[in-house]
Amino acid sequence: MGKVYDVAIIGGGPAGLSAGLYASRAKMDAVIIEKGKWGGQAATTEELENYPGSMEHPTGPKVMERMKIQAEAFGTECLKEDVTGFDFSDQIKTVKLSKGEIKAKAIIYATGAQPMLLGAPGELEFRGKGVSYCATCDADFFTELDVVVIGGGDAAVEEAIYLTKFAEKVTIVHRRDEFRAAKSIVENAMQNDKISVIWNTVVEEIYGDGIVEGVKMKNIKNGEVTDFRTDGVFVFVGTKPITETIKGLVDMDAKGYIIADEEMRTSVEGVFAAGDVRVKSLRQVITACADGAIAAVNAEKYIEKNFEHILLPDAKKEGGWV
Ligand code: NAP
Repeated sequence: MGKVYDVAIIGGGPAGLSAGLYASRAKMDAVIIEKGKWGGQAATTEELENYPGSMEHPTGPKVMERMKIQAEAFGTECLKEDVTGFDFSDQIKTVKLSKGEIKAKAIIYATGAQPMLLGAPGELEFRGKGVSYCATCDADFFTELDVVVIGGGDAAVEEAIYLTKFAEKVTIVHRRDEFRAAKSIVENAMQNDKISVIWNTVVEEIYGDGIVEGVKMKNIKNGEVTDFRTDGVFVFVGTKPITETIKGLVDMDAKGYIIADEEMRTSVEGVFAAGDVRVKSLRQVITACADGAIAAVNAEKYIEKNFEHILLPDAKKEGGWV
């Protein structure tokens, strides 16, 4: 057998990077595998004011970049690769990659969540042509233009505030008459002259000619349908877990979130879940980091209990324990 890592961490967001930091600080041989953007969703959010200690570097991308640098500084290997599946049938687990595979004694699954689609006609047609799911990525395309933000959670209200740095006017369209977002975020938004809110309303269609030109909205209280001209539509209607590669291998709830206990243990021994991908009540950077740390500590305990620290010739050559 070739190299066997102590722990393979799938996903390079706050949960995965924190797991890497804790694992490597505990002298475990750790690798984080990320196929997309390091930092995950947190790297697409501009304001990160509720992560303690981030006042000097409040932007998501900066904080995430520092987390990766810190994990690497302690020896975590960061690999840009596409995970396609797993084999958990042996004690040494296999992570299948689009090119090759990786062996590890423990797995921490920390792939996070991704934006949900609105499901309205025109949404997919105009994706990237006025429809966006990331204000940090796309806000500057809408400098001095008008945009609509759909949703009423933390993401919608926070990103609406961020969009006012660029856009002329930001209209939040929410299906209820109160926000789900944290009160402090709502207060900030309500004090911003560029933001207005259309309550009890859903966007039923996004239209345009090559690029977005407007939306058709329906007031769900009185059924009135109106045409609203806009240059862009930012959709923040929630997230769903990214679990394609592990579906059917560990227990999940009805919505597809991975069930893990307080120690981040899933239904498979030696497989841990951390961050937004697991069933939990508060999905934030701070709780993702905590999950990652707990998962790494328990992965270490699992390895100590289940693997004899015998250095086999192959492993010795590669520098790993078997
Ligand atoms: P969320 O909290 O689930 O909010 C989704 C919003 O979209 C809700 O207001 C919901 O309306 C609305 N919605 C859902 N489906 C819709 C549809 N088909 N049409 C119109 N509106 C629809 O999602 P999120 O804001 O993306 O946040 C996800 C998680 O990340 C949350 O746990 C959140 O706390 C966290 N987060 C935290 C921060 C932060 O702390 N700074 C920032 C971003 C995200 P209803 O309210 O009527 O259900």
